[in-house]
Amino acid sequence: MPLNTLATTLSRAEEGGYAVGAFNVSDLNQAVAVLEAARAERSPVIVQAIAGMHPYADEGWWWDRLREVVQSYSDVEVTLHLDHGRSYDDCARAIEHGFTSVMIDASRNAETDEPASYEQNVALTRSVVELAHSRGVSVEGELGTIGGAEAGLSGVVEEIVFADPKQAAEFVDATGVDALAVAVGTSHGSVKFTTDQGGQSLRISLIRDIKDRLPSTYLVLHGSSSIPPEAVVTINRFGGVLPESYGIDTEQKREGIGSGIRKINQGTDSHLTWTAALREFLSGHPTEVEPSVAIGVTMKAMSGIVARRMREFGSTGRVA
Ligand SMILES: [Zn+2]
Repeated sequence: MPLNTLATTLSRAEEGGYAVGAFNVSDLNQAVAVLEAARAERSPVIVQAIAGMHPYADEGWWWDRLREVVQSYSDVEVTLHLDHGRSYDDCARAIEHGFTSVMIDASRNAETDEPASYEQNVALTRSVVELAHSRGVSVEGELGTIGGAEAGLSGVVEEIVFADPKQAAEFVDATGVDALAVAVGTSHGSVKFTTDQGGQSLRISLIRDIKDRLPSTYLVLHGSSSIPPEAVVTINRFGGVLPESYGIDTEQKREGIGSGIRKINQGTDSHLTWTAALREFLSGHPTEVEPSVAIGVTMKAMSGIVARRMREFGSTGRVA
């Protein structure tokens, strides 16, 4: 089965009124863990990778192997997506290696890391859309600033600048993006909010306002992991030092889906769960040195959280 574009996956989600989880993977074992969950849940899935974030010497080699692993799950409906492409070159390389969707995050200048102007964002995003659409690949753009450490790339912790619905509509019109990451109250990374937001993190009315103006654009939530408290507690019990942090609760995400969110990025939750499983296992098995045993434990844990998110987002059972 050929890989799906993001547009195909999200058009079905739009019809069905659900969202599709996008899970960040940085090695092949994580990709298998995500794909196993998708198969078990009969859920569509978006497997996404960030340029530069992997342990391999050659990124092109890694992306080719990732694509092969994804394609080997021929019964699973998968989109292979580049998360937070920072430049035209990042996106062009991902397309070359068979990704069916790319995000161009032109909200910051890739070289200087300064915030880009609206005009610069439009120009770069537009050029990526021209290339991608000529190859049948979908594009996700970003407007404004989603708070937190932007995918751990710059380490910059920023305030959230909420999306302006009117400008969002102009941006989509000027660039032709298929999907748009909107700053509606989420925050990147494993440290989001230092207090419980009381289920009030997401500005649901803002999502509705943007969706009203952009009925045929797929809206994307970034930085929307829930930060499972059990994972943080486990990590810290076995030697970690994560600060107290609160994420976006499940009920809020459900409301977001009801208001038009169709793709939800969940990098941090599965990575926290992976880390918790590894720390707990190694601590409890101090004589175990066979890598496959510990890695197997992390894969099972990651499959578990991914499957849980698929059920929460309503994507379970959507693949015949
Ligand atoms: Zn993001």
